[in-house]
Amino acid sequence: MITTIEELRRWSQQQHHSQKRVGLVPTMGALHDGHLSLVKTANQYCDTVLVSIFVNPTQFGVNEDFHQYPRLLEDDLRLLQTVGSPEVFVPEITEMYPAGFDVSVHVGGVSQPFEGEIRPTHFDGVATVVLKLFLASGADIAFFGQKDFQQVCVIRKMVTDLNVPVEIVVCPIIREPDGLAMSSRNKYLSKSQRSQAVVLSQSLILAEQMIVGEKIQDAERVRKKIRSKIETAPDMNIDYIAIADPQTLHELTTINCDTVILVAAGIGTSRLIDNILITTTRS
Ligand code: AMP
Repeated sequence: MITTIEELRRWSQQQHHSQKRVGLVPTMGALHDGHLSLVKTANQYCDTVLVSIFVNPTQFGVNEDFHQYPRLLEDDLRLLQTVGSPEVFVPEITEMYPAGFDVSVHVGGVSQPFEGEIRPTHFDGVATVVLKLFLASGADIAFFGQKDFQQVCVIRKMVTDLNVPVEIVVCPIIREPDGLAMSSRNKYLSKSQRSQAVVLSQSLILAEQMIVGEKIQDAERVRKKIRSKIETAPDMNIDYIAIADPQTLHELTTINCDTVILVAAGIGTSRLIDNILITTTRS
């Protein structure tokens, strides 16, 4: 296990001297099958894989769950042994943000709507820590989950605009058997909340049926359907239902091109997000 940036740099140099392609899987720990699927994909693409486990304080807002976020390092290390025992980077906060740290990476455009409106400092924290991880690890390829669709848009934009020499690979959303997208935060849900949470993925399937099956192009109609499905869960408070262009995240009124539908809702003290990418025939 690597804990310092200096050690990580040395490790990365060794890998590159041995002509190895380095894959990076950034995580905040409390690992589940979603994270492990990223590691499995990284194993296929790369000669050597690094998983970072760091609950990044700068991506949490002041009233968010930074202190409650599950920290389960022993379990995480055990789980990683089931997927090829990748190298693990587990820095302390002071290692990533030493006293006097005073830089923030801000990505415009795609970071503004949806999550950006609700969590205004979130993506600056994400972009900053991910760039630090890219630089320190010397990763050739980094693996992210479609689960955090807007995060991928932000990271892609950062990589493009700053000419960061890291390839981004996006992996599909891994779900529980009933459809709920796996998330470290699902641990917070009570039994009743857990059973209500399934309406998010169900609403997205209904939307897909409308768009692909019934060829409905009116985004407002689709949005209403999603809303009424989510509202069948009495404790679910919708933050947003966005029907957008997957590249720009501009909202669509007519669905006649590739579309991403993003939903977010609060339940109790938890927040859940989910999304679906719908590929339509261009007209
Ligand atoms: P996190 O630990 O929540 O910051 O997530 C680390 C990485 O795992 C991110 O790239 C997430 O998008 C990805 N991830 C989280 N949940 C899932 C999931 N259910 N399926 C696929 N990837 C996921």
